[in-house]
Amino acid sequence: MSDGAEVDPAELHPLARLPEDWEVVLARAGEPRFRARQVFRWLHAQGQHSPTEMTNLPRPLRQQLTSETLDVPAAVGSVHRAEDGTRKLVLELDGARVECVLIPMTRPAGEAKDADLAALPDDDDDVADDAPRSQRVTLCLSTQYGCAMGCVFCASGRAGLVRGLRAEEIVAQVQIARRHLEPGEHLRNLVFMGMGEPLHHYDETARALRVLTHADGLDLSPRRITVSTVGLVPGIRRLGRDFSGKIGLAVSLHAPNDAVRAQIVPMNQRYSVADILAALAEYPLPRRRRITIEYTLIAGVNDRPEHAEELARVLRRLRVKVNLIPMNAVAGAGLEGSPPERVAEFRERVARAGLSCFVRVRRGDDVSAACGQLAYSGPLVDPARLRGVGRASREP
Ligand code: SAH
Repeated sequence: MSDGAEVDPAELHPLARLPEDWEVVLARAGEPRFRARQVFRWLHAQGQHSPTEMTNLPRPLRQQLTSETLDVPAAVGSVHRAEDGTRKLVLELDGARVECVLIPMTRPAGEAKDADLAALPDDDDDVADDAPRSQRVTLCLSTQYGCAMGCVFCASGRAGLVRGLRAEEIVAQVQIARRHLEPGEHLRNLVFMGMGEPLHHYDETARALRVLTHADGLDLSPRRITVSTVGLVPGIRRLGRDFSGKIGLAVSLHAPNDAVRAQIVPMNQRYSVADILAALAEYPLPRRRRITIEYTLIAGVNDRPEHAEELARVLRRLRVKVNLIPMNAVAGAGLEGSPPERVAEFRERVARAGLSCFVRVRRGDDVSAACGQLAYSGPLVDPARLRGVGRASREP
């Protein structure tokens, strides 16, 4: 693990413990090593949080586990269902309210695969998968309450960063989302594209990723997980190294050059377009995988034909695909999304230059669940209480 400072596993929330952490905790209670995996399996593979139901554990251990809070540290405040089947769950955490979004990957009848732009992550079909496509669900989750990045077109950072979520709160979003699956639905992809900047909160995000992908737990495939970043270069390097490039990466570029990008992404002052592209070139991508370049199209800002040409040029040597996102309306931003003709023309140009380029279908915007619409919704508790809770890690 390269999760930074060593922590006593007993101090981790039970849902943030990996089997090796449980080994340490349970060894202190005189339990053999194999119990660790049993407990981990109950919590993550079975979603069983009540120790009395953990039938293969000896009674004294079950008894002992009742003294721990094994429950998911989140409550569902409300569920908003969009016309297209997208569900936004508003979750109440300790001093934070975050949103995660369940997106069924239903493809309208007769539409070609390339048009299934819901394909947020690499949704290749070369992996055996029993679930029919219509039942696959992508979960978009949050890593922070608020966000420190301040991108001008995004509602999440309006009030700055309140606090980062703990690993167990990130894991909890997945566990709760699973309970909201409808019959026949199956959670297939995870995208870290909700509120917050995952690489500005690396340690907790990485721990959650390890828990979620562990073979004894939910066993989610790293290739079906995409972490989206504004382009924090040290974080990109660290993610690539720690997970051997297996976790999918999406980068919010939004501009082909620094002059345009600086107007909309303040972080560009720290890491330039060239810095980011250099980090992408070094990302240890597995064969046949590509990095996603996210590009939010804003009318009159970054949507001109020459921007498309320049984008294709700067990305030429990288293994990427471009995901265009017509900007969703965000109150008070004073910006507008590019009109459909403009989006189509932009896509055309990038594609003609030889890059794969898709337009992301807008999902869930009638319940403000679309990209950039997950907003900070006011303070919940006395800020003094938040002190010490907010483990918003410094940038890696
Ligand atoms: N902080 C991460 C992940 C969060 S946002 C990142 O920056 O990538 C997920 C994607 O939605 C990003 O590409 C983000 O730039 C985009 N986005 C934010 N606001 C948007 C808006 N109003 N319309 C369209 N896309 C938006």
